[in-house]
Amino acid sequence: MSIDLAVIKKLGGDHLDLSFWEGARRGELLLHRCGICGKHYWPASRCVEHGGTDMAWVPASGRGTVHTYTIMHHAYAPRMAPHVPYCVAVLKLEEGPFFHTNIVDCPMEGIHVGLEVAVRFEEDEVSGLTLPVFAPVA
Ligand SMILES: [Zn+2]
Repeated sequence: MSIDLAVIKKLGGDHLDLSFWEGARRGELLLHRCGICGKHYWPASRCVEHGGTDMAWVPASGRGTVHTYTIMHHAYAPRMAPHVPYCVAVLKLEEGPFFHTNIVDCPMEGIHVGLEVAVRFEEDEVSGLTLPVFAPVA
């Protein structure tokens, strides 16, 4: 089943993000890498170091550390009610970019800055997209 670009646009993305979501569906976390300097981004249509547009989606390690996080104790969207409490985190990926995600399969009190995490993928029933989420490294 192909990914509907309209769904991505509704979430604030564009056609450049399509490969990312196709990768997630395959179980791959993709980052944009500059073909000139090799710096990784998520997402980016051009390198911010020198403006180059020679960008390509490449597989990432899928590992990172918690840079900052918050525990949500209220379901601000009704569909999140079954998940409360849940963790929204900003990770620093091994390749360098920051990445917003959820921390899963972990007691909320076990989450801390510097926690090492690895990607896994969950299907989102509402959007139909496969979401990269992260869990502590065992
Ligand atoms: Zn570059």
